[in-house]
Amino acid sequence: MRPTLHQRALAAAAQRAAADGVRVRRTVEARDGVRAVVDGQVLMDFCSNDYLGLGQHIEVIAALQEAAAIHGVGATGSHVVSGHHALHRELEDELAAWSGYPRALLFGSGYLANLAVIQGFLGEGDACVQDKLNHACLIDGARLAGADLRRYPHADADAALRQLQARPAGAAMLATDGVFSMDGDLAPLRQLALVALSQHATLYVDDAHGAGVLGPFGRGSAAHLGLGPREVPLQLVTFGKAFGGYGAAVLGSAALIEHLAQAARPALFTTALPPAQAAATLAALRLVQREGWRRAKLHGLIARFRRGARQLGLPLLESDTPIQPLLLGGNARALALADALREQGLWLTAIRPPTVPEGRARLRITLSAAHAEVDVDRLLDALADGLRLVDAALPAEAAPVAPAAAAPGEVAVADAPPADAPPVAAATA
Ligand SMILES: *Cc1c(COP(=O)(O)O)cnc(C)c1O
Repeated sequence: MRPTLHQRALAAAAQRAAADGVRVRRTVEARDGVRAVVDGQVLMDFCSNDYLGLGQHIEVIAALQEAAAIHGVGATGSHVVSGHHALHRELEDELAAWSGYPRALLFGSGYLANLAVIQGFLGEGDACVQDKLNHACLIDGARLAGADLRRYPHADADAALRQLQARPAGAAMLATDGVFSMDGDLAPLRQLALVALSQHATLYVDDAHGAGVLGPFGRGSAAHLGLGPREVPLQLVTFGKAFGGYGAAVLGSAALIEHLAQAARPALFTTALPPAQAAATLAALRLVQREGWRRAKLHGLIARFRRGARQLGLPLLESDTPIQPLLLGGNARALALADALREQGLWLTAIRPPTVPEGRARLRITLSAAHAEVDVDRLLDALADGLRLVDAALPAEAAPVAPAAAAPGEVAVADAPPADAPPVAAATA
């Protein structure tokens, strides 16, 4: 007899509980920059993606309020029916001017944009070559497109080259995170651009975590490495991270962007972003360009954190971005440290499989220009104390996982089920 969905849900819940894999949604009741009231407790936030502290900037809020007062709270339709607003056009034009790309196209979210880009350009018989640590929505995009998805070991441009050489027929896209969302390191974009060029493949960089944070005027990872539209023909920027809001845009040539606007299903069959949200992003974009001190302050805090962490011998990964993962290994260890820190008033989230490979659970520490130096020092003290406590309580797992113990590329992420795939046990129950 076929399993009911109820049985499947119960079996999956039991599996998650047994593996310390249950996700908790904590409720933010109030927020003031990096301070938040979370489930009744005042915490300092070290897990948000609001890297520049723009989410509550008075100019951004005022832009949203004013536009909502005049234009309402919704777009009333998709871009191709009734929803395309002058504020959307203004934002697309300013994004193009800022980035140096001929055109920008707005999407409801980065997730939707990645589905659009890959499904819009690739189909059966085409190759989509991706870094193993790419964000889940790049993987989902390739699956949805029905393309031949190949994943190379993390940051291994030579392996990407071999995978493209092995598939000479059909169109090809080489897709990578610019800054890796759970590790914080930069993709080797210069090498990847050469590989793509030599193989007639299009390099697509998802710069959700680089945009606003890296490069001149916050233009992102590619600009930081001296690359532009010629080397990286397609790019994604998202507004839910350093821009402090919500939404995304794909940057590219007029022909590529027009193709997406005409043909990509997530560009056609969904309601446009609220115009007021576009107004907020416009205000944030202007601050990203004008207030370079936010980036300077953020990078100063990153350097301070890494210096302190090195002195304390904390197991950090190599990263010069606001994403500073503390590698802990097992799920129980990561959860215990997050609990210990919460008792000290600090909010960090344990990141576990399948978001990261098995045995590489971590605390994903994120820094923001809204933090102060004393906040970073407090975090370092709390991490040192917390690790001592956890190692005393969980001696079996006490040995820290050396970053080199498992090269990320060798971990079979590709074989792990996606977060919401039906668990095998339930499927056969
Ligand atoms: C967050 C993220 C996305 C998704 O963007 P949303 O706007 O949150 O949907 C895509 N790619 C990467 C690398 C991300 O970190």
